[in-house]
Amino acid sequence: MTAGATGRDDTGVAGEPVGPDLVLATANQGKLAELTDLLGDRYRVRPRPHGLADTIEDGDTLEANAIKKATEVSADTGAMALADDTGLFVDALDGRPGVHTARYAGPDGDDAANRAKLVAELAGVDGPARRAEFRTVIALVRPDGTSLVAAGRVEGLIAEEPRGERGFGYDPLFAPIEGDGRTFAEMALDEKQALSHRARALAALLDRLDAG
Ligand code: IMP
Repeated sequence: MTAGATGRDDTGVAGEPVGPDLVLATANQGKLAELTDLLGDRYRVRPRPHGLADTIEDGDTLEANAIKKATEVSADTGAMALADDTGLFVDALDGRPGVHTARYAGPDGDDAANRAKLVAELAGVDGPARRAEFRTVIALVRPDGTSLVAAGRVEGLIAEEPRGERGFGYDPLFAPIEGDGRTFAEMALDEKQALSHRARALAALLDRLDAG
């Protein structure tokens, strides 16, 4: 089968994903669901194989960590790999937790512990002073070692308490400023995708790929 200039391969069975193989480096189910939805049938999306060693995210930037994750998964699988690294940058905390967003409440902290710490740290901070932004860097690494990187961001306000059941991570605390006051966790998937840092980073990456 031959892939065209867009990277698409149009010889597949109708209704089946028909593009080249792409392994998603993330084990995060929320990220996986969003990226798979956004990629549509452009690639044959493969989940991260079980048993791959976790990447040690010791880079100083989102970009360094995204490239490291995608490079390791591409080397381990022999396929093209895509990785996302995301941080929440809160104005009142001088940009924390930033690159350390996943481990904000400590190495054993989970999403609930991270949210609880954020609510506690912002106690007494009101209104616009609760501004924050999500930033995502997405890296695509090919088996020959070449790579492409793109970034996306969205501004929001940190809610006083978690609201909503959808999404993952900090979604119950993040109300995008371009939205209607609801948190990402109160939105349907397509509503979050229309505004999110991750969707914007992936769109920029795909634009760059299409531009050659
Ligand atoms: P990482 O990119 O996997 O290192 O994730 C950083 C942290 O941000 C983790 O705690 C994730 O749960 C959280 N996170 C990443 N993306 C999102 C999102 O789209 N919404 C809410 N939390 C997120």
